[in-house]
Amino acid sequence: MLISENICFNDIQLAHQRIEAHVKRTPVQRSSIANQLTGAELFFKCENFQDTGAFKFRGACNALLQFSPEQKQRGVVSFSSGNHAQAIAKAARLFGIRAVIVMPHDAPEIKVAATRGYGAEIVMYDRYKEDREEIGRRLAQDQGLTLIPPYDHPHVMAGQGTSAKELIEEVGQLDYLFVPLGGGGLLSGCALAAKSLSPQCQVIGVEPEAGNDGQRSFQRGSIVHIETPNTIADGAQTQHLGNYTFPIIQQYVDAIETVSDAQLIDTMKFFANRTKMMVEPTGCLGAALAMSGKFDLRGRRVGIIISGGNVDLRRFARFVLDSEL
Ligand SMILES: *Cc1c(COP(=O)(O)O)cnc(C)c1O
Repeated sequence: MLISENICFNDIQLAHQRIEAHVKRTPVQRSSIANQLTGAELFFKCENFQDTGAFKFRGACNALLQFSPEQKQRGVVSFSSGNHAQAIAKAARLFGIRAVIVMPHDAPEIKVAATRGYGAEIVMYDRYKEDREEIGRRLAQDQGLTLIPPYDHPHVMAGQGTSAKELIEEVGQLDYLFVPLGGGGLLSGCALAAKSLSPQCQVIGVEPEAGNDGQRSFQRGSIVHIETPNTIADGAQTQHLGNYTFPIIQQYVDAIETVSDAQLIDTMKFFANRTKMMVEPTGCLGAALAMSGKFDLRGRRVGIIISGGNVDLRRFARFVLDSEL
């Protein structure tokens, strides 16, 4: 798979045609209480209802569907804190491809079990001591596997962008789009789709306060590396943006903001109470900012990507109970 250039909107359109038959067209939910709270019209794009419980299935399908016969026959390797792993594992099984996944030893149990359940082989590593990318690359080299990283890959980015494409095609022009940010696969694809389909739309990336490398990179104009951030948003514990994702983010994103873990917990509780949805901490990033009052959204049409819903019940209960004490 030779990759010479970065993605354009046409890649997202092609990705959509390629994956449409395999991924869910996720629902767009509205909430009158959230509208009252913000004075806006909010459209929640619910990737927590995507296959494998997160948008990552989109990028995984788009990447694997472009494998050559030889790549298919040898297999795929990936590293992930969870949702990308499940997505690759399930897509690989769907397309009859062997999958090897490099996962941190402290990944949420629900994610490890699900990945195994899809038939992937799992290699564990210590996320505070070892370099997962190096382990992935070594496995790729030794076994002839194709490495599909969780965000820094044009096919992955184009696939993730189909979420915002579906949202805008369904609800029409937006004034704002709030998108969770880890390594930027989701944000880059969604920003490109949003600016192409709704040029006036302000695209805002949202990352956890403890790991604001994206915000600092955006402000500085070069990729900032940080230590693994300590946050409950395990899908956004990335240490840096990608070489493919960063230029797209620089070009198409209007701002990058942060929210605290406490805000994420409040938002998880809001979704559970008011909309009857289980949303994982990382999935709450965009909604937490949109509902924080930081932006004056009165009278605006606002898209929010709810990126995933994979959270252990015990962990969910612990967050909710701790915040009541
Ligand atoms: C991976 C993930 C993110 C972050 O996506 P990036 O493409 O790395 O920016 C956000 N939310 C959830 C639920 C995820 O699994």
